[in-house]
This record gives sequence, C-alpha cells and structure tokens, in this order.
Amino acid sequence: MTTVKSTCPYCGVGCGVLLTPDGKGGLTVKGDPDHPANFGRLCSKGSALAETVGTDHRLLAPRVDGQDTDWDSALDLVADRFRAVIDEHGPDAVAFYVSGQLLTEDYYVANKLMKGFIGSANIDTNSRLCMSSTVAGHKRAFGTDTVPGTYEDLEEADLIVLTGSNLAWCHPVLYQRILAARKARPEMKLVVIDPRRTASCDGADLHLKLAAGSDVALFNALLAEIDRRGMLNQDWLDAHVEGAEDAIASAHACDPAITGLSDADLQAFFDLWIGTQKVVTIFSQGVNQSSAGTDKVNAILNCHLATGRIGTLGCGPFSVTGQPNAMGGREVGGLANMLACHLDLENAEHRDAVQGFWSSPAMPEKPGLKAVDMFKALSEGRIKALWVIHSNPAVTLPDADKVRDAVKGCDFVVVSDITERTDTARLADVLLPASAWSEKSGTVTNSDRTISRQRTVLEAPGQAQPDWWIMAQVAQRMGYAGFDWKEPVEIFREYAALSGIAGQFGRDFDISNLSQIDGGAYDAMQPFRWPQGPAKEGGRFFADGAFYHAGGKAKMLALTHRPPVSVQDGARPFRLNTGRLRDQWHTMTRTALSPRLSAHLPEPFVDMHPEDAAHLGLKPADLVRLTSPHGTAILRLRQTDDVAKGDVFVPMHWTGETAPAARIDALVAPVVDPISGQPESKASTVSAEAF
Ligand code: SF4
Repeated sequence: MTTVKSTCPYCGVGCGVLLTPDGKGGLTVKGDPDHPANFGRLCSKGSALAETVGTDHRLLAPRVDGQDTDWDSALDLVADRFRAVIDEHGPDAVAFYVSGQLLTEDYYVANKLMKGFIGSANIDTNSRLCMSSTVAGHKRAFGTDTVPGTYEDLEEADLIVLTGSNLAWCHPVLYQRILAARKARPEMKLVVIDPRRTASCDGADLHLKLAAGSDVALFNALLAEIDRRGMLNQDWLDAHVEGAEDAIASAHACDPAITGLSDADLQAFFDLWIGTQKVVTIFSQGVNQSSAGTDKVNAILNCHLATGRIGTLGCGPFSVTGQPNAMGGREVGGLANMLACHLDLENAEHRDAVQGFWSSPAMPEKPGLKAVDMFKALSEGRIKALWVIHSNPAVTLPDADKVRDAVKGCDFVVVSDITERTDTARLADVLLPASAWSEKSGTVTNSDRTISRQRTVLEAPGQAQPDWWIMAQVAQRMGYAGFDWKEPVEIFREYAALSGIAGQFGRDFDISNLSQIDGGAYDAMQPFRWPQGPAKEGGRFFADGAFYHAGGKAKMLALTHRPPVSVQDGARPFRLNTGRLRDQWHTMTRTALSPRLSAHLPEPFVDMHPEDAAHLGLKPADLVRLTSPHGTAILRLRQTDDVAKGDVFVPMHWTGETAPAARIDALVAPVVDPISGQPESKASTVSAEAF
C-alpha cells in the first residue's frame, strides 16, 4: 500500500504523519521524519490516530428531522430555509458557527459565503475560545495578527518561559523539542508560570504559582524592573516603538503583590528574564481565556518590545494555538471581526478590495456576533437559522446549558459533522455527513505559520462529503455565483490570489506566488512557512523593526491589572479552572474511540487541595457536586496540592454523550474579554459539597 504524507488533526503543533492504508478501511500512522514541526515525533494522541478511524460512529447520510434522506433534498432544504430567513429578517438573522478543525479551503468557503454573499459577518468559530485574545493583542501591538517567531526559536532560546500553557500535555511534541534542546544545552532554562502545578513543571528551573488572573501584574512588574535595572533597549524603542513611556509608567504603578508571589520568586524570575538575551515567552489558553486576555497578551508583548527581544533567532513572544488550523482560520478571516488574509473588516478600502475580488453582491460593514454573543442572540430569537460546522457549542461554550437550550429553541439548526453523537448534533433539524480526517484533502497552518497538506487516504463512508463541497452546494442553491469549484486546489488558488490583495495593502500574509499552482504541485506540496523568500530571512517577522501600524512602529500599551469578573465569596469560595488532559481532544468525538487514550484518565474528576477537601469533610474518590449560578456538575474528587487552596481544576472534555453530569462548561460564567470576546473559561466561582 502507498504511504501518504498528511498532518495530525489535533493540536496546533501541526505534526506531519505518514499514513499507510491497510486496504480494509484502516491505516497505520507514523510520525513524518521530514516534517519540520515534529521530525518524526508523535504524542500519545497522534500515535493513536489509527484507532479512531472506522465507520461505527459515523453519520452516513444526510438526515432531516431524524430521517435519512438524499443530498439534493437536504441541500435544497438548507438553502431554502436560509434564503427565507434572510429575505424575511435580513442577513444578520442567520449565523455560522465553525471550527478550527476545518481545513483552510473549507474555512475560506464558509467565510466567502457568509460575508461576501449572504452579507453578514455572523460567522464565528470555536477559535474564539482559543486564541482570539492573542489575535487582538497582536493587532494592538503589531498592527496585524502576526506570530513573530518559529519553532526553531524554542530550541535556540537560552530561556523558555511557559505562561498559561501546559505545553507538556497540550502541545506535547513542542515540549519534547524543548526537552531535547535542554538535554543538548543544559544551561538552557525553563520557567513555568501557572497557578496549578502541571506536567510542564517537571524539570522546570522555576515554577511561579501566581494568583489566578494576575498575569498583567506579573508582566507589568517585569517591565518596571527592566526599567529599574536600566535594561530598556532605548535605541530600539526610539526607532521602532510608540507608547513606551506610558506603558512603563503604568507598569511602575502596578502592585506586584497582586501576583501572590514571594519577593524571592519574583526576583528569581526577573534575574532570569532580564539577564538572558535569548528569551522566548510561550503563552496559550491560560493567558487568552480571560476577561483581561488581550491585556495579558499585550503585557507579555510589552516586555519583548521594551527590550527589542523579538524577531531574532531564539527571541520573542510566541503564542501556541490550540487547534490544528486555528492559524488557517485566522488567515482566511474566519472570525466575526476579520476579513480574509489579515485584512480588516472595518477598513472600507479592504472591504471594497475583497468584494471586488469576489464580485460579490454584499459585504458587511461592521463585525458580526462573536461566539458568546451569537448564542445569546440565538436565545433571544434574533438568530433564526444557525449552521454549526464541526463544533459542539452545546458543551463547550460558557453557560452551556443555556446555549443548549438556545440551540434547541432555534427555528432551524443545521449541523455538519462526522457523527451524530454530539450534544449539538442531537438538536439539529438537518444533519449533514462530513468527510473526516484521512478522507479529505486541503491545507492547515500550524502555530509557527507552517502550511501543510492534509491528504485523502481513505474513502469517505456512506454519503459523507467534504465541507467545502457541502457549503458550495448550498451557496449555489441560494443562487450565488463563484462557488463552482471541482477540487480543493481551485479554492486554494483563489485564496492565494486574494492574498495578493493583502500584499498590495502592505499586510503580512501574501502567498500569491501560489495562485497558479496546478493540481500536481498542490498534491506534492511540501510543508512551507509563510512568508516565503528572502524578505523575512529565516521566516521570522520584525527583526528589521518594521511593524504594520501606520507609521511602521509597534505599540506598547499602558495596562492595569483587572481581576477575574466572578468574585469568590462565602457562597462560592472556589475558583474553577478548566483545561485539557494529555490524551483527550475537545469533546472526545475522536479520542474516546481509542481504548488506550481513554485509559489514561477514564472518568471526569475535580482536583482540590487536601486542606479544602478536609474542610468539606471529603475523602479521596468521593463524589463532589460543584455549583455555580449557571449549572451543576458531579465529579470524582482527587486531592492534590497541585492546585492552590481555593482553586479547583476540572477537565473540559466530557459531554452529555459521555458523562452528562460532568459538562463543566455549564458552570462557566458567560463573561468575556471586552476586546477579543474570548470567554473567561478559567476563573468562574463555584461552591463544592459532598454529593
Ligand atoms: Fe498531533 Fe499535537 Fe500530538 Fe503533534 S503534538 S501528534 S499535532 S496532538
């Protein structure tokens, strides 16, 4: 059997895989030794991929009101119902909720259909829950959503700081690369900043167990100390940065005691960070999923900008994306407040250029509803037709019971997925069977801007079809031109050509050199990192000090600490932190199919400090009821001082399908960052009692 190169469908590391079909509907999976993300490594999830293919769990035919039907009937119904709602209530009465699991080509079609043809920006994505604070922070600092660094920087740094990132479990191959670099260069240091002791702390030189939500105070304290020690890079600041004076003044005004860290820990961190030129600060959901997420991102960026530690080998802030194609989604403008190719929805020239390129009848002038607001609009009846594509918002959004009820109450709900066994799919009026990983073909972009191919190696079962095809069929049936592609390569060519417009506006994302790529070259495409060519030598941005704000300078922001919105009190004394496990992915639609992955941590649990458990009269393995104003969960107790007193940690993966009492996002308050709209998924407050 022929071995095919593809990409892992899980996290944003974007590991290359070698897939060999067995001729019986299965395949074997190995790490691709030539892929620049992993050089052959795979984590537990990637190496168990072969156990997750098959047809047992699959949705095999379009289904309307619970009855199997044919594609023509289902697609006509979707097009007719969306058309009727738009005609009666206007384009903002419909919405798409999509996913960082989508391939770039799929994402492009969804964005083009909603923004350019339906004429609304009501398309948002589960990436809103993942990286939107980083997007907003990058745009404020750099003028565009640019990830400056590359994976090589993680190996070349002399100090790695992990903040709000359990990299060992959530991006395991990147963590393995860092460990290998530390083995080769034992002088390389690792600092972990996290209220919780995680697997990433094993072997770290320093773990700062900061108070939940105090990241701005910590990085403000670092910036003030950089100034105090005379370590500002004044020449760089003068030439390339605006706002430094105000940002530094705000940093001095911020009280480091907010972090809850000892002076000794703070000084140890300052000594390491300030005393090491080659620093990479990696950040992820612990920073982003906050009502102050955008400020937290900018607090980190401020420190790198103040020292000029950005854009050179082994230096810079580095956001690691959660999903396999969160970056591709950002590149095609798959968020409610973005246009394709890093163009701005609120810029009239950008809008006109994209509309002209698409020859489209419409283009929204204002951002659409971000995820939490979208489902609020659904619950209020303002959204009357919803299409959910490869996501499970009835489990994963904050206040998930209310979201589930909103989906249930919506006039018309379409779900495209590979399975009907999700909480959201169970509520759909129309289910559309989509091709799964290994059955579909397209591109994804990983955390360091490397674009890789996912390739087809297995036949899609039943009537399953690629997402781009499903959306293009609906678009054509709604009467729209420009959706008659036959193959994903045609969509990629169009997208690449559109990026040339972004290049004309001086934006960072331009792959227009691929706008004529033929099918053979697309099939053979090797992983490549954008930008290509000598302009940004080494694939890093900003070494030349050229940023994307008008005037070409970066911006430092004056920031003040804002605590989490939910307040601990006598009624709800615990702060609820949610997060991932090593061997599960999202709501487990794929990983739960692997017995060995499920064996790692087989049931939902709550981690609680032993003194808190004793205070409540709880013993190890007792069942505990957590309650917030929004919902309740029943979980097995694990006593551990990995969590601080007053904190509890619960994994996010279980659903109404797998453990109905453990849908933890039902307890999470629908509080969002005012700039990014990203929910505060790690700082709700709950009560706890024996069940
Ligand atoms: Fe897949 Fe991420 Fe594991 Fe790589 S690190 S194998 S991309 S889950």
